[in-house]
Amino acid sequence: MTRREFYDCIIVGGGPGGLSSGIYALRASMRTLLIEQTAAGGQMVLSDMVENYPGLRSLGGAELAQHFHDHAQDYNLEVHSQEVVEVEPGLTCHRVKLADGTTLKTHALILATGGSPRKLGVPGEDELYGKGVSYCAVCDGFFFRNKTVVVVGGGDSAAEESLYLAKLAQKVYIVHRRAQLRASMILQKRVMAEPKIEMVWNTIVTRIHAEGDEVGGVELQDVQSGEERTLPADGVFVFVGFIPNNKIVPAGVKLNGDGYAVTDDKCETDIRGIFAIGDLREKYARQIVVAAADGCTAALAAAHHVEMQRTIHEGGGAPSALGSG
Ligand code: NAP
Repeated sequence: MTRREFYDCIIVGGGPGGLSSGIYALRASMRTLLIEQTAAGGQMVLSDMVENYPGLRSLGGAELAQHFHDHAQDYNLEVHSQEVVEVEPGLTCHRVKLADGTTLKTHALILATGGSPRKLGVPGEDELYGKGVSYCAVCDGFFFRNKTVVVVGGGDSAAEESLYLAKLAQKVYIVHRRAQLRASMILQKRVMAEPKIEMVWNTIVTRIHAEGDEVGGVELQDVQSGEERTLPADGVFVFVGFIPNNKIVPAGVKLNGDGYAVTDDKCETDIRGIFAIGDLREKYARQIVVAAADGCTAALAAAHHVEMQRTIHEGGGAPSALGSG
């Protein structure tokens, strides 16, 4: 497909939010391009099972991502694999600069760049990444069959990934800095019922050490007593939250203290025609279903924005190409 220079709507990011907005944008007859740096699907590809996407009961994350992708392809969503390096907001259109030097223009821009795993920030973490340190159990769990692994964190990710790892590993220690998990109650109950998982409460990892070239264990500190000890392990899986991928969010878009883009209820940022959705947007619940809903909201609002732009710039009341979708 030949790429245009000017679009009604450009979406950056191909996770559940970006793909949903692609579906809604095309149903609203907008000339739409989705730009994705790697493979479509976003974080959901890394989930073993998704059990809380309404209507689908239980599905592998990669399979759900494929459904989103296929659904968008039913509408012939144009997808371009490139890195967006800069967004330059404008009054009548916004400019999207790509790593290959191309600049595209668009009336509406939907930023769906998601988030990345937060690092622990302890000695050994970077040095041993890929040598026993991982941020994805589905990707790397296979290498730890019948071995001992440490999971760091207490949220939904730590709980879900520990349950996945327990199917492969001989022993899974969850090291959490408090005495209560943050994860949803259903996951907490499953974790407590899994005999291969042992909780290490009120404890932080202060260092990941090597044995030869690979992870040999972790240094732990009890946050109450200050006591230190070594826990031998073959792998360390870090799930201590996400940080929003806000590198290309232009100045003028308000970010909260944690770096999430602040929007109104239409997912529109402080800059007219620029929307932020999914894990990039400040919100209460970070769920696939919420990212998908954000995608719908932003695309419908973007369609309205584009229609207004056309009316203004193509001579008041010019017939619009936009359908009601
Ligand atoms: P999260 O909910 O932010 O939890 C991060 C966990 O890491 C917390 O338990 C936190 O401890 C701990 N932590 C943070 N910084 C730490 C540090 N420096 N050292 C040690 N521990 C640290 O992150 P998440 O589990 O990755 O989930 C992110 C979002 O995605 C959440 O909204 C979650 O609900 C959602 N999610 C949902 C599902 C699902 O519905 N199935 C699956 C995965 C993720 P404290 O508890 O003490 O703060």
